[in-house]
Amino acid sequence: MNLNTPITNLKGVGEKTAAILNRLHIYTYEDLINYFPREYMNYEPPISVADVKIGNTQTVSGCVSAVNGPIKAGRYSIITVVIKDGLNILEVLFFNQPYIKKTVKIGGYYLFRGKVIQKGTRLIMQSPKLYSRDEYQELLGHPVPVYALTSGLKGKTVTKAVNAAIRDIQWDDEIFPAGVLSELKLVSHSKAIGLMHNPGSDDDIQTARRRLAFEDFFYFIMLLRKNRDLSVTLKNAYPMIETADTRRFIEKLPFKLTSGQKKTWQQICEDMSGAGCMNRLVQGDVGSGKTIVAILALLMTACNGYQGALMAPTEVLATQHMETVTDLIKKYDIPLKPVLLVGSMKASEKKAAYASIASGDCNLIIGTHALIQDKVEYKNLALVVTDEQHRFGVRQREALAGKGNQPHILVMSATPIPRTLAIILYGDLHLSAIHELPADRLPIKNCVVKTDYRPSAYKFIADQVAAGRQAYVICSQVEAGENDDLENVIDYCEKLKDVLPKLKISYLHGKMKANEKNNIMQNFADGNIDVLVSTTVIEVGINVPNSTVMMVENAERFGLAQLHQLRGRVGRGKHQSYCIFISSNEEKKTMERLNILAGTNDGFKIASEDLRLRGPGEFFGVRQSGEFSFKVGDIYADSALLEETNEYVDKLLADDPKLTKDENQKIKNSVIKYYEKSEMLQSI
Ligand code: ADP
Ligand code: MG
Repeated sequence: MNLNTPITNLKGVGEKTAAILNRLHIYTYEDLINYFPREYMNYEPPISVADVKIGNTQTVSGCVSAVNGPIKAGRYSIITVVIKDGLNILEVLFFNQPYIKKTVKIGGYYLFRGKVIQKGTRLIMQSPKLYSRDEYQELLGHPVPVYALTSGLKGKTVTKAVNAAIRDIQWDDEIFPAGVLSELKLVSHSKAIGLMHNPGSDDDIQTARRRLAFEDFFYFIMLLRKNRDLSVTLKNAYPMIETADTRRFIEKLPFKLTSGQKKTWQQICEDMSGAGCMNRLVQGDVGSGKTIVAILALLMTACNGYQGALMAPTEVLATQHMETVTDLIKKYDIPLKPVLLVGSMKASEKKAAYASIASGDCNLIIGTHALIQDKVEYKNLALVVTDEQHRFGVRQREALAGKGNQPHILVMSATPIPRTLAIILYGDLHLSAIHELPADRLPIKNCVVKTDYRPSAYKFIADQVAAGRQAYVICSQVEAGENDDLENVIDYCEKLKDVLPKLKISYLHGKMKANEKNNIMQNFADGNIDVLVSTTVIEVGINVPNSTVMMVENAERFGLAQLHQLRGRVGRGKHQSYCIFISSNEEKKTMERLNILAGTNDGFKIASEDLRLRGPGEFFGVRQSGEFSFKVGDIYADSALLEETNEYVDKLLADDPKLTKDENQKIKNSVIKYYEKSEMLQSI
């Protein structure tokens, strides 16, 4: 069997299972063995009823003294299994699982894993997992893979199929020379795959991850090198000169540009008036003032008689940019003629927008990815700015670039990456960095607190509103029912109105219609709403400098990088701002993790620390950066490996630029295979 063998060849994978696996995009042996665990579980030895701790998930073992029920309770039919340990009794409740009556025998020895709660004097475990002694024994002493599943698919089925595939495959030879593997401390590809699915210890997971992360980085960097070679040669198709308009505009602004903004602006001017096509990334933490720099570039483009486009990842943000620009035009009389193009516009509005874009009546086009649809024809698009690039795929960026005859490209990103890594990861882009925040900013004050702090927080919010400020409250879900443990926007908004009856409180979430969202956002920006209860839709880019409080419910549910972005929504003006992170999980580890945020404002440090505090099996599901999401590699956790990989590519290509040497043929072939795959993805 080889990697391309269809999964139906596996014993135990019939047509039905295959169809379910297909839904997860698993068709071949290769797809299957690359279906890595979502996380790993470490099972602890079982305890007896006497040692049970309230509130914890634990495995309790014991002899069954009674099996009662089923009794009907609403939609449920409940069977209660009673285990006794001397005087201690644990009641284990199974819901709508009639077969338990047959499987669990009185006097038999079983293990039950679940959360134990106390009701009066009774100890109760609800909906546990049930194991026999042998079954549980097999889970002990090593990390156990947990796979992401879909309806109809059991974890056991995946485990079995994966292991059968690993056994059956005739592995191709290792493509990297032995010397390279030992220098970079890498195990072979086949060994890494084996360990990934069957680790004997946490160290094994690390070993496997290292090898596979190396591959992620290696192919990605090789692709960047190819693109870099293609883009250095592009000529400047839209040469421009700096006009008096931009200079006058800068002079009239109510603030002085920071030195980072000035330097970045100068670099952009030089690029657009130089010999080559601009391909520049502006990196600056949230609130550093990237928008004004983008507007300067768009203004220069317009003053030279060309069109520029500004693309944002959400309609809310695009609409906000439109407002900002319209405001600036009113105040400073600059020759920008903007038009908005977003998906939710009426067909007639869109048609009018298309017409003014094609005729050149407007010279600034602001929108979402509606900007890159086939229907849009530009008259003379010379600059494309993408804001909050970490929400955009490279593919979308390129599609927009393809709309013109090689326009200048300016990318704005708040993804916090140190320069050394940015140089590697953005390979083909030139870098500008805005390190400092505007001088009038006061550092944000943070606190990480438990839910009993809420009354004080509400009072604080009321005081801030009385002083003329505004506040955000973030909930992790839209409405009740998805997960009852979590706060939801709709109910929370109602509750808050009861607590703070004098305040104007509204809510915002992603499931609302685009128009409604824009409306609410506009009202908040205009100061007509005091408190906005929202999901993370406001995470990206939103700028309402008058809001000074960011309160996040269930903060423990968010990645720290995401919380850092949310925090970036306040502290954007001259007023002192505050972040209140409410954690409903009081475990020390959780509080410690959240407290990292209070300790530093350095986005990269925050993301790295977040991962450091997680165990090796824990961070697979946590995507810190949507911009660079690899299968296994993580730019924060594996930053050292990323640099080592880059050095290796440098050496490899310095020694054999076209990979013609015999010893590099296997590498060359797999790189070509990777190029083909990524081109295929780009053309979809
Ligand atoms: P981000 O970099 O997160 O996109 P914005 O461009 O939205 O930040 O800027 C945040 C706020 O800071 C805006 O209200 C903007 O007008 C203001 N701002 C930008 N540059 C300066 C500056 N040099 N001094 C003071 N305020 C500034
Ligand atoms: Mg921004």
